[in-house]
Amino acid sequence: MAKKTKNKSKSIRQTRIVTEICIATVAIVSAVYVLKVTYDHTEAVPASPFIEISDNTESNSELVPEDPNKIIYESIEYPTAKKFEGELILVNNSNQYYGFNEELVSVTAKINEEERTSFAGGDDSVQVRPVFYNALADMLEEFYQEKQIDDVVILDGYRTAEEQQNLYDADLAETGLETSERVAKAGFSEHQTGYACDFTTSTTWDYDGQGEYSWIDEHCWEYGIILRYPEDKTAITQIQYEPWHYRYVGIPHAYYMTKNHLCLEEYTDLLRTSYPYESQHLEIQYDANNKCEVYFVKPDESSENTYIPVPSGKKYEISGNNSDGFIVTVYLEGDGQSVSVPDEQPTDNTTDTIGTTDLSTDIAQ
Ligand SMILES: [Zn+2]
Repeated sequence: MAKKTKNKSKSIRQTRIVTEICIATVAIVSAVYVLKVTYDHTEAVPASPFIEISDNTESNSELVPEDPNKIIYESIEYPTAKKFEGELILVNNSNQYYGFNEELVSVTAKINEEERTSFAGGDDSVQVRPVFYNALADMLEEFYQEKQIDDVVILDGYRTAEEQQNLYDADLAETGLETSERVAKAGFSEHQTGYACDFTTSTTWDYDGQGEYSWIDEHCWEYGIILRYPEDKTAITQIQYEPWHYRYVGIPHAYYMTKNHLCLEEYTDLLRTSYPYESQHLEIQYDANNKCEVYFVKPDESSENTYIPVPSGKKYEISGNNSDGFIVTVYLEGDGQSVSVPDEQPTDNTTDTIGTTDLSTDIAQ
């Protein structure tokens, strides 16, 4: 009996040990699992309410290793009112310019300071934003190198609202009309932004962009510049064909608009409707070294600030579209500051157009 009791007691102890081992094993396995889930979660969801969408594969799968090139987005607080600022703002008859931080340089002063002779400025009052001046100077120097033509004059740049109103009134006085068909009302001219200018020539005082000057329209995208009012977009821009009026938007955007034959109205509309942040992003590769992606973010109209998703550790730029949102440009490869393969001409590519409809069969020169 004593032996039997001893055996029973031994058996109970063994059962208890086995149970304790089982509980310990379950606890350890659970702890490891919890740690692993937490780790995976940290990897997959950065400190942001936004979900990574550039990679379609499920990064949580144990079989798919983490892509080291994957973009992690984080959100930044950005003033909602800045939707009216930036290089991609659309100013036209329906979108008023409200004015912001107009840092300007005198074209003539810069030309004198840099001792340039391959192009000229109008009178001393002609001003544009520095980024636009630098692009114009680079483009017109290259134009001179290619064509030995040095008579381009940057005749008109930034205008104040008052100057625009004076032009408008003068046009009414000249035409006798009640509203002008040629001059934008004060507040609705791109010239007020500092990102637009008009060319003429010092030999004919006329600039039509024809002949040797067509080099400028073919190459201006390489400097981030577009011909703003092409002949076959007048139904959209509501502005007559102006071969002399150029606008700065930045290289990737100028490339995409030129390649796909879009005016700024069409481009900003395309970004808004087809490339919001939550959807696919627009990828633009304009040469072998430069690739970027572009997406649209709605402003938070109920708040002074809008949370904008931006890439962690990559260069990006934010511009308002001047009406209902922000356009984010992320530089995936290169910095978007220059074009390394200028031989590739997007204007030659007539088959690679996107789904927007050309309203006219006219070909802009
Ligand atoms: Zn103009």
